[in-house]
Amino acid sequence: MKAASLFRERFGGEPDGVWLAPGRANLMGEHTDYNDGFVLPFALGQGVTAAAAVASESPAVRRLTLCSRQEPDTAVDVDLDGLAPGQVTGWAAYPAGVAWALGEAGYRVPGACVAIDSDLPVGAGLSSSAALECATALALTALAGVEIPRAELVTIARRAENEFVGVPTGVMDQSASLRCQAGHALLLDCRSLEVTQVPFDPAAAAAGLLLINTRARHALSDGEYGRRRAECEEAARRLGVPSLRAVTDPADVDRLGDPVLRRRARHVVADDQRVLEVVALLRSAADGGADGDAYGEIGRLLSQAHASLRDDFEVSWPEADTAVEAALAAGAAGARMIGGGFGGSVLALAPAASLDAVRDAVTSAFASRSWTPPEFLSAVPADAARQLS
Ligand code: ADP
Ligand code: MG
Repeated sequence: MKAASLFRERFGGEPDGVWLAPGRANLMGEHTDYNDGFVLPFALGQGVTAAAAVASESPAVRRLTLCSRQEPDTAVDVDLDGLAPGQVTGWAAYPAGVAWALGEAGYRVPGACVAIDSDLPVGAGLSSSAALECATALALTALAGVEIPRAELVTIARRAENEFVGVPTGVMDQSASLRCQAGHALLLDCRSLEVTQVPFDPAAAAAGLLLINTRARHALSDGEYGRRRAECEEAARRLGVPSLRAVTDPADVDRLGDPVLRRRARHVVADDQRVLEVVALLRSAADGGADGDAYGEIGRLLSQAHASLRDDFEVSWPEADTAVEAALAAGAAGARMIGGGFGGSVLALAPAASLDAVRDAVTSAFASRSWTPPEFLSAVPADAARQLS
């Protein structure tokens, strides 16, 4: 637990506790969240750890002191009384925003010292930001002696990111970090916010999941994200539905005269369907059902989703397309880009025996193009945020 040793180095003394919040990968359902649709994330074994203690000064002064092993040059000291959006910038806005959002929700947290450590790559689409928020949220609520239901904590952590940091994200990342279970994916209905645990155990089917951090970040990403949201809203308006979630027959999309809007809507409608198909396949695999090759079928859906994100939604990037192609050629059952697009990671599903070959093939495909070597993480569906000690 390196967060605890960082705490001792920086603050002296022992932390009152150590909390871990995982990153996530999304198995299926990309750009469906803001269309009121379905997503199917799972928590990773990798995550953000927070070691924290109540600050021992007078209880009248509530200061939050933050440090992170990944940000060695900046320790940040925040006055919790009168804290407001805009007062903290940079990485510390995420944990400070959690303290602020807890206060807004009526929970008074004490002054605290918090040391952060992480084994999640930052900005790789694996949701290090939500992991940082959720680890901080568990730490601060425990120090305050309050227990908040997970669904409410999701809202608080998301509010920190949306309103304090100022990033307009959906509800998936915090839901995954706070509500997933080991050996399961989390089916999240972004319209009703209902969550369902779906058994997800690739190892039992002699398969494995590999995350490929392409290490690419293309400048387009923010502007294009906003543009896609607007296009989806416009497509829904022209189809006369409250959101694209309401379209269940893919043929309805053909009523859109505009070819760009038609492609965007086709991706969203098809990806919602693919989430439900993957859920059905996972359930049949868990039941030992008649369908012997559920994971092979899920792989095909992953590759279909990638083609849809690349050609219809137009949010893929060259490193992702190359990683997907190389993975498939080396024996992966399927692969797709994950996250908003224009940078981040690819998720590949492969027979366990092919995982090394997939890694090698992607490495050499990148090397032959003189790209920064990719980073590989093995992805095993893990538990949600929790106290470690
Ligand atoms: P992602 O969530 O995909 O990793 P984001 O851009 O949403 O990417 O969030 C990344 C930001 O979260 C970083 O720029 C940094 O401000 C913050 N962050 C994540 N992990 C840490 C960490 N271990 N220490 C400090 N800040 C972190
Ligand atoms: Mg993020």
